[in-house]
Amino acid sequence: MPGFTPARRWQAAYRPFKNRPLPEKIFTWLERTIKGALFGCRMCGNCLLQETAFICPMECPKGLRNGPCGGSTPEHCYVDPTRPCIWYKIYERAEKMGRLDRLMEVLPPLDWDKTGTSAFLDLMGHLKKHGGAKAVLRGLSALPEERRHKWDSFFLEIRQPDWWNGDALPHPAPPHDPGSHLEEALTGEGLVITAEVSPPLTANPDDLIKKIMPFKGIVEAVNFTDNPSATPRMSSLACSLIALQHGIEPVLQIAARDRTRMGLQGEVLGAAALGIRNILCLTGDHPRLGPPPNGRMDIWDLDAIQSLWILRQMRDEGRFLDCREIKCVPRVFLGAAGSPNSSTPLIQAIREEKKVNAGAQFLQTNLVFDLERFEAYLEALERREVLQRVGLLVGISPIRSVNAAHFMNAIPGVRVPDSYIQRMEASSDPREESVQMTLEMIEKIKKLPYVRGIHFMSVTWESIVPRLIKESGLR
Ligand code: SF4
Repeated sequence: MPGFTPARRWQAAYRPFKNRPLPEKIFTWLERTIKGALFGCRMCGNCLLQETAFICPMECPKGLRNGPCGGSTPEHCYVDPTRPCIWYKIYERAEKMGRLDRLMEVLPPLDWDKTGTSAFLDLMGHLKKHGGAKAVLRGLSALPEERRHKWDSFFLEIRQPDWWNGDALPHPAPPHDPGSHLEEALTGEGLVITAEVSPPLTANPDDLIKKIMPFKGIVEAVNFTDNPSATPRMSSLACSLIALQHGIEPVLQIAARDRTRMGLQGEVLGAAALGIRNILCLTGDHPRLGPPPNGRMDIWDLDAIQSLWILRQMRDEGRFLDCREIKCVPRVFLGAAGSPNSSTPLIQAIREEKKVNAGAQFLQTNLVFDLERFEAYLEALERREVLQRVGLLVGISPIRSVNAAHFMNAIPGVRVPDSYIQRMEASSDPREESVQMTLEMIEKIKKLPYVRGIHFMSVTWESIVPRLIKESGLR
């Protein structure tokens, strides 16, 4: 039977289609046929068409429900280049329909109990609760603005499970003393410096210690990536603890790709108990990017925005996603990834605004090699008043060789302009030329408005960072 494979398997296991009452079978078949043809419906049972410009987002290989990933392009989906990015299409149509604001609401993770079931029946049930046909007539006869409001609140009620109270509003952290050195630095004066380390492919802590000790005392914090490119490495949590034990403040990166909603909450309680204070929430690279045999491709229980929302509620409202109370809340400083090179500056600005509304207190951008594009991204963020509410760290790194520069252009969310590659090609020492271009870029970026710091992402070339910090005059 076609349709939403995991749900079907789950549904088949739990309440096989054949055992459902006839009316439900008919509605489910009707819905699959009609909505499948019209909207590419995958029968997730948690219908969002009302919110996503009547394009079904479940076509997204990452199952994203809150906007495009950092690899989105106007041309195609980075996971499956044979098709367009469904979220790019949603934003494009929403803009034409004047419904971009509808995309600001932080939407819940899937209610898996509903997958494979009929949203039509759900709708009917809610209509009945509101008075059935009379309610529809009342709604239709209302004034346009009032009608829109009734319509939207009616659908809000349907899609908002009682364990989720998503909205499109900012949720700044309540007044508090900085919980980490990074938070203190980002809310203070002066440029902040952070670095990124790719965890070792071994269980030997010395491999990690050798990489991180040169950063001690010259950066505010060191990030540890979470199985980047969907390739297993020493866990970000273990690296963060080892760094802490060696007097280096860590940023624990958490990719939603490998977490369920239980796993995320448990891991962050544990991290906070270990003294890890800085958390960067990401969605994560698709397993298809990793070495075979690839992991499950279709279980995306959360995205980065939902992760931020859940962790902020744990910290500020002292409750788990299932609404149980948390006695000792995790005092964490929350961050998210910024994607200056993905889709369009407007779409990314809306996405970053949603991350900040959900709980991000700092934004760490992907690598910047194209200053013009980065400035357009900054302007879009400023127009939406995002930069005024968040600490912005700009991702920077030199490139070792011309081949590496071409390879980086294939990485989702990274864009190395031709002029940059041509300058390397024209040089007798391309690597040194790239270091010089990086120093020039730092000089320009540190003068831009709202830039709070530089994030060195020289993964596998961490040794160049101390020289860059010294020669750029940052320290
Ligand atoms: S590019 Fe990203 S957001 Fe767009 S469809 Fe692909 S995985 Fe989904």
